[in-house]
Amino acid sequence: MSDIGNIFVLVKQVPDQSAKAGINPDGTIDRSKAKRMINPFDRFALQAALETKKKYGGRITVISMGPPAAEEILLESLEHGVDQCKLLSDRRLAASDTLATSYAIWKTVEYLKPFDLIFCGLQTTDGDTAQVGPSLAERLDIPQVTYCEDFRIENKKVIARRVIEGGYQWVSSSLPCLITVANSYHHLEYKNIRGAKLVQELLRNKDKKDELIKTINLDQVNADPILCGLKGSPTIVAKTDKVAEIGGSCFLQQGESVDSMVQEVVSKTNILEFTR
Ligand SMILES: Cc1cc2nc3c(=O)[nH]c(=O)nc-3n(C[C@H](O)[C@H](O)[C@H](O)COP(=O)(O)OP(=O)(O)OC[C@H]3O[C@@H](n4cnc5c(N)ncnc54)[C@H](O)[C@@H]3O)c2cc1C
Repeated sequence: MSDIGNIFVLVKQVPDQSAKAGINPDGTIDRSKAKRMINPFDRFALQAALETKKKYGGRITVISMGPPAAEEILLESLEHGVDQCKLLSDRRLAASDTLATSYAIWKTVEYLKPFDLIFCGLQTTDGDTAQVGPSLAERLDIPQVTYCEDFRIENKKVIARRVIEGGYQWVSSSLPCLITVANSYHHLEYKNIRGAKLVQELLRNKDKKDELIKTINLDQVNADPILCGLKGSPTIVAKTDKVAEIGGSCFLQQGESVDSMVQEVVSKTNILEFTR
């Protein structure tokens, strides 16, 4: 059994896409109106961390950057069995782009280190850039394994299988290392009873909750506010467009021959004629 120390998992709260969110006049998402959830891709990162702990030991810390409401997803992570959570929350972070986000998370990781592994989701369902994980690894100057769908740890090394176009690739990396977990990894298991009981207790005992979900600010992690929020974000939303949803229905066409099936499909659509 390899000895793993601290395992960090990056988890972001995103708007629930099944509910309606507003759009601000500058084209950014009005998050105050949106229903919220754990970024679906980060559920795979959480599962990778939980499995690592089960197999190799270690202590799991979830790190999230977001408004105070992000506490909801941290409570949910505790229900799944993580050990503790850190919420980087500061008004000066509002309107951070990926550059500012990776800077602020980097300062947080520097403040919380040491660590052996950092797990991230592949991307988020709101910003959707897949840049934060790789930028963080660069800033930390550690190796990164992206699109990882399977891995094991041997002799203080990660042996990982990456999804690549048309197949997969095995790579090996020294520790510490950052892994972005692909959505072909195992699904997040159900919340466990011990986690659920713990969260019930935290909801009654604020001191204990504050201990397990620590909120930290930019000053505590020694981050320069000029490099955060709007000031630290060179990205500009130039224009947003409403994308019309394509409606329609599907049908299964069966028949004796391809020609008869095609003719049948043509007859059901507004295509006038089909010639071979
Ligand atoms: C002009 C502008 C203004 C913006 N203003 C805001 C704003 O006010 N509030 C806001 O929430 N977003 C804001 N965003 C979106 C924000 O920039 C991105 O959501 C954020 O930088 C992360 O990038 P991403 O979503 O593309 O993450 P990706 O790079 O796709 O995420 C990859 C992985 O990194 C980790 N990760 C990413 N972000 C976080 C996080 N915050 N905490 C923990 N883990 C994380 C997760 O594991 C995730 O799966 C703004 C974007 C722009 C361009």
